[in-house]
Amino acid sequence: MRELEIAKSELQKKGYLDLPVDVRLDLFAEIERLKKEKNAIVLAHYYQEPDIQDVADYIGDSLGLSQQAAKTDADIIVFAGVHFMAETAKILSPQKKVLLPDLKAGCSLADSAPPELFRKFKEKHPDHLVISYINCSAGIKALSDIICTSSNAEKIIESVPKDQPIIFAPDRNLGGYLAKKTGREMLLWNGACMVHEIFSLEKITKLKIRHPKAKVIAHPECEAAILDIADYIGSTTALLNFSKKDDAKEYIVVTETGILHQMQKENPSKTFIPAPPNNACACNDCPHMKLNTLEKLYLCMEFEQPEITMNEQLRIAAKKPIERMLEISAQYGL
Ligand code: SF4
Repeated sequence: MRELEIAKSELQKKGYLDLPVDVRLDLFAEIERLKKEKNAIVLAHYYQEPDIQDVADYIGDSLGLSQQAAKTDADIIVFAGVHFMAETAKILSPQKKVLLPDLKAGCSLADSAPPELFRKFKEKHPDHLVISYINCSAGIKALSDIICTSSNAEKIIESVPKDQPIIFAPDRNLGGYLAKKTGREMLLWNGACMVHEIFSLEKITKLKIRHPKAKVIAHPECEAAILDIADYIGSTTALLNFSKKDDAKEYIVVTETGILHQMQKENPSKTFIPAPPNNACACNDCPHMKLNTLEKLYLCMEFEQPEITMNEQLRIAAKKPIERMLEISAQYGL
């Protein structure tokens, strides 16, 4: 009991309940038990470690996860992802308890757009409509007109009248890619994702020489030079779907490595090679996503902490542009 009190008192500092977990426990069975007992649902992003993906009720990218969060009738949403994702679930389902295994699972891209700076930037362009990528804080969402994900961004931009100037935030790489794709000039916020920015063009080119039949498939958060050599560009879900439909046998995957687990499961006879970053590593993990572990997931379900809480005024303001996104996505059948 004393151990639990200490862990709770240190929760904000550490980000998670730092309690020992009995190594003999079957965590998969325990998590299933807790789901039933508490009417809880586990939503996991594709970039989570394989064990977490295997125990999740739903695995997806940001669009799918927010759609699931909006429609679930569970009492507790356990979000195995990063903070802005759990925050989005809370914005959409305020009456539900939303848990995140580690509160410190943040996002370098979301951090690259501090709301106060963005507000000043927006004030300089009062005639612009703001489209923000979902990878941003609730503060940025509240300053936006429409949210988008990499799955629906093109359609969202196309839904805006051609003569309406647009600010796109926070990812400059995704914004640049979309500007090219849609032919729309957009004012871009200068943010980026540390995982997708660090891929090495040189190492990928060498890999391609060693695997001449491999197709390069890349996420649009990557830099333009990487996208230029890609055979296919798409959101995490689009990359997974492409790997199922396409007839190549080998792929060089230029995004976070967590997605390789589903790709391999869905296509056991194909080979997926993680693209190397510009450092000594052979693959590229998101350090924020990988803060969540199966043990932390179990502990947060058992003790229902850490929980996402939010100022109500901010929540209501942030909800509007997300709902707009969900409406437009539904119109396009996304
Ligand atoms: S992969 Fe990039 S955008 Fe996604 S959570 Fe990690 S830092 Fe953020």
